[in-house]
Amino acid sequence: MNLIFKKKSYCFSLSTKVENSKTTYLTKSGWIIKLISNDKKIGFGEVSPLYSKDLKKCSKQLNMIPEHVEVFKLSEQINIFHPCIQSAINSALAEINGKIIFKKKYYFDEIDNTAILLNPKNVISDLNKIKKRQSNIGKSLTIKWKVALKNNHEEEASLEEILSQIGNNIKLRIDANGSWGREIAYRWADILKDNKNIDWLEQPLCVDDIDGLKELNKKIPIALDESLLKFPNLIDEWKGWQIRRPSQENNPVKLLRELENKKALISISTSFETGIGNRWLYHLASLQLQGPTPKVPGLAMNRIPDSFLFLDEAQKIWDQL
Ligand SMILES: [Mg+2]
Repeated sequence: MNLIFKKKSYCFSLSTKVENSKTTYLTKSGWIIKLISNDKKIGFGEVSPLYSKDLKKCSKQLNMIPEHVEVFKLSEQINIFHPCIQSAINSALAEINGKIIFKKKYYFDEIDNTAILLNPKNVISDLNKIKKRQSNIGKSLTIKWKVALKNNHEEEASLEEILSQIGNNIKLRIDANGSWGREIAYRWADILKDNKNIDWLEQPLCVDDIDGLKELNKKIPIALDESLLKFPNLIDEWKGWQIRRPSQENNPVKLLRELENKKALISISTSFETGIGNRWLYHLASLQLQGPTPKVPGLAMNRIPDSFLFLDEAQKIWDQL
């Protein structure tokens, strides 16, 4: 199959910044790619590196892909490219080949459809606002708290307060983004291990401390995030929760198949993609919610700016870019 390859770059500002212990996201840059087959089928993909340090490398590699290319040559060429480029090309090919068929509309707009990020500067007042909204809508909610941004004493005091304030209708995820050492991680695991409202501790230890993470997972549910990006083999090996980011994986069709085959303990997470990448996120998150361990995804919906980049139709986004 012969293909035409096209690309366009984008940059947008998040509606409010997202902070974690390693980085702060204010803007997001990347590329939308379009593949057209010789029988005029179209597939879109998005190159959406999570870390801005990877943009230069992606730009260089994208420029190496010719406009007219044979599918086998393209697949071979991208094998050594950044995972985000592989993800984009493989996504677009999956669309052309009918391996994924998107719905016209997905429904993740309501507050209870995705995990709500707490503002790390005002955790308790933010929690109170969420509780008020909850009493208005009467549904269970999931909150996510990014920790290791302040000193541990302060955060443990906040933890006590949060635990005293949430009832069974609020689930809590705590994400250290790999910034704790074993001592602090074990302290938190001890405090939380019998709590029924905790979904998981996310990446409490650094990406490389797989032994420590395995030990912790015996005490309390541990979700791997950054470790899976550095060591993709863990996807088939890790027995606990997995935070999965389709735009960061070489081939999101693998994740699609896992969810279609009802693999458990997966939660889908945004890497702040545009509407192009969001089609995959929403599709996979919908499947996950029908699986054996349904948990709301982390889509950061309230950080999405009002822009054509987030339209429902891929072609419209492409045309306006
Ligand atoms: Mg995370």
